[in-house]
Amino acid sequence: MGKHGQYQGAGSSARSAKSIGATAAALIVVPGARHPHNPRMNFCSHCGSDRIALRVPDGDNMPRYTCDACRAIHYQNPKVVVGCLPEWDGQVLLCRRAIEPRHGLWTLPAGFLENGESVVAGARRETDEEAGARVEIGELYTLISLAQIGQVFMMFRARLTDIDFAPGPESLDVRLFREEEIPWEELAFRTVARTLRTYFLDRKQGRFPLRVSVLERKPVHR
Ligand code: ZN
Repeated sequence: MGKHGQYQGAGSSARSAKSIGATAAALIVVPGARHPHNPRMNFCSHCGSDRIALRVPDGDNMPRYTCDACRAIHYQNPKVVVGCLPEWDGQVLLCRRAIEPRHGLWTLPAGFLENGESVVAGARRETDEEAGARVEIGELYTLISLAQIGQVFMMFRARLTDIDFAPGPESLDVRLFREEEIPWEELAFRTVARTLRTYFLDRKQGRFPLRVSVLERKPVHR
C-alpha cells in the first residue's frame, strides 16, 4: 500500500477544473458547505481564492466545489488502488507495513495508481517498491468499490519470477505464507482480507473468476 495509505484521503481532481462560463446558473450555492463524499476544499487550486462554494453547475446534476473568483469547477473523482497477489509454489507473498495507517499489520503489495501509468504497471511498481519483488502480472482478480471513501481497489493475480525479495522502505518484513499460516487477525485492510479469503476458496475449485464487490464503511457502534 502506498505512502498515503489505502483508507487515508479520497477523491482527486482527475478531470482538471474547467470554467463554468459566464452563462452558467447554479441550482444551489452553499458557501463553506461540505461535500458528502469529497474531501473539503478551502482554497481554489487555480487562483488561490477562498471564495469556494458547493453548487450544481448548469448542465450538471452533482454538487461541485466551484470558485467564485475565477469560476473554475473542481471535479473530484475516485482514486484507483492497484496491487497484486503474488504466488510462489502454493504460497502468497505479504508485506508487513512500516508506515501508518495500520503500521505492523500485513498487506498485499498495493498502492495508488499514478497519472500516466497503466494499472498493470502500477501493480508491478508497488510490488517492487514494497516487497523488492519481481512479478509477472496475470488476470485481474478482485475489483472492490469503496464508494464512501472514493476509492476503487484493483487486485491482480501474479507470479513471482524469483524469491529474491526484500522489504522496501514502506515494509518491515516480506515473506511467503501458506494458507494455514495467513495472519488473518493481523491483516491491514478489509480489501486484502476479502481478496485472500476469496482466493483460497477459488483455489480449491481451481478457477479464479473476476470478483467484483462493494465494501461499505464499517458501521459505528456507540
Ligand atoms: Zn479560483
